[in-house]
Amino acid sequence: MAFEKLAELIFPNVDKTTQYYLEKYPKRNLKEGAVVCRYAPSPTGFQHIGGVFAALINERLASQTEGVFFLRIEDTDQKREVEGAIEDTIATMHNFGMDFSEGMTGQNTSKGEYGPYRQSERADIYKTFAKDLLLKGLVYPCFCTPEELAELRERQVANKITPGYYGEYAKFRNITEEEAIERINNGESYILRLKSPGNIENRVEFHDLIKGDISFPENNQDVVIIKGDGLPTYHFAHAIDDYLMRTTHVIRGEEWLSSLPIHVQLFDVLGFERPQYAHIPTIMKQEGGSKRKLSKRKDAEAAVSYYKEVGYPTVCVIEYLLNIVNSTYEEWRAENPTADYHEFNVQLEKMSKSGALFDLVKLNDVSKDVIARMPANEVYDQYTTWAKEFDNEMFELITSNETMAKEVFNIDKEGPKPRKDFAKWDEVKDKIFYFFDELFYNETAEQVELPKTLSLENAKAVIEEYAKRFTFNIGSQETWFEELKAIGTELGYCANRKEFKANPDAFKGMISDVAGAVRSALSHRTNTPDLYTIMQIMGEEKVRERFERFLSL
Ligand code: GLU
Repeated sequence: MAFEKLAELIFPNVDKTTQYYLEKYPKRNLKEGAVVCRYAPSPTGFQHIGGVFAALINERLASQTEGVFFLRIEDTDQKREVEGAIEDTIATMHNFGMDFSEGMTGQNTSKGEYGPYRQSERADIYKTFAKDLLLKGLVYPCFCTPEELAELRERQVANKITPGYYGEYAKFRNITEEEAIERINNGESYILRLKSPGNIENRVEFHDLIKGDISFPENNQDVVIIKGDGLPTYHFAHAIDDYLMRTTHVIRGEEWLSSLPIHVQLFDVLGFERPQYAHIPTIMKQEGGSKRKLSKRKDAEAAVSYYKEVGYPTVCVIEYLLNIVNSTYEEWRAENPTADYHEFNVQLEKMSKSGALFDLVKLNDVSKDVIARMPANEVYDQYTTWAKEFDNEMFELITSNETMAKEVFNIDKEGPKPRKDFAKWDEVKDKIFYFFDELFYNETAEQVELPKTLSLENAKAVIEEYAKRFTFNIGSQETWFEELKAIGTELGYCANRKEFKANPDAFKGMISDVAGAVRSALSHRTNTPDLYTIMQIMGEEKVRERFERFLSL
């Protein structure tokens, strides 16, 4: 065999054979059609919403087919590792309803028979396969310095030649064993490259589960498989890991699509059966007339932490992401308003092939729908959990007025068209503050809203009379309104729009102004849920007190 001495020199500690690993990690014994897939982040500590999106698609497919969804940590670029990132990833995914059936379970722990699940602990495995390829003459050491490579590139660009390390430009492609040994013994640094058997004249046909049929020229670049630090490149690790972990579906971001020629070639060279691939469109954001990638730097919503901070219930984000995954989700949801989202069947082939548009307005719509369907008790529980962390004042107010808070969250919930008040928990305070004296009486006179058609003076006159005459326990919304109308009419407000329009000077205003005055006295706002319900929740004492205070404004 070629390069035997060189292989011993480079890999003196490899004591296993490739066969050993192939047997150690046998094909999984799962039912027909079961999808084995993974989430494979680098532990950089930043959770991008795109990661949750990718994980969700993987998790759904594994779960739908009773397959396996595992967590692999891609930490071969050790500079980037942030402490606690693995636990954070696991907790985030759990929070988004995803649990890994296998793989890393903590910083230093894992479960499953196909580990280690952290690439930095798999060096022996990569080396075994790299050594095997070296012995077969399919891999060689390259001693080029970064300067030399940059120079080569410049030369190629200047001469309008495809840049890269390939064919005749691959300086060390045909290095002799003696020369390689000598250079290594002289202490020269090197990396290992694949001696690419590809020819760009040939095309590879490929079926991507999202993108459909694609074809591309064979890879002819002698790509790096083992870096100077002895760790593998993404390409090599992907081939080794996904084969030995018996991944059936590699479902990952489309930024990897352009590397597919390399990956397909590596699988072939290694003698591995290829997995199925699905390349997920990148999450984009509309900006003016154009679309751009959701950016970690520019867009708060790129960070998963954002959703927690502003208080989107995770299930709303999941529902929204499922809308992006399959546009049929919306229809399914309309037909199955109360079904659990797990019952929806995610289909890769129905996914949009181009950029997935991320739209906060749409997220808010979805979220409002979800919260509107949530029972008041659950709204209370979720809101208090959020407030405990992000709004202490509201947490105290809500939990010390639990009964009232639950009634507030129950306003207009039970009808066929439940109110859609909140998209996220940080909007709650603004919409319900007036139920709490501590917040309500803190408002300044400038914050008091009145209907445009009503002066403060007239509003006070209305409240003065109304406070004297209204019946608190009147029995129903209808009778309550009849009474308000009667009082208003006597005060010179008109109960009929047509009549008012025909002769506006004959009236002080419309009955809606009377209701507006009451609304403002009770809430300082012009837009609230049903007034009768609000009054019932506040109770007579509070209502009367507010009328009093309004008169002293
Ligand atoms: N570590 C790679 C990344 O974060 C994983 C890509 C893949 O799923 O293969 O982009």
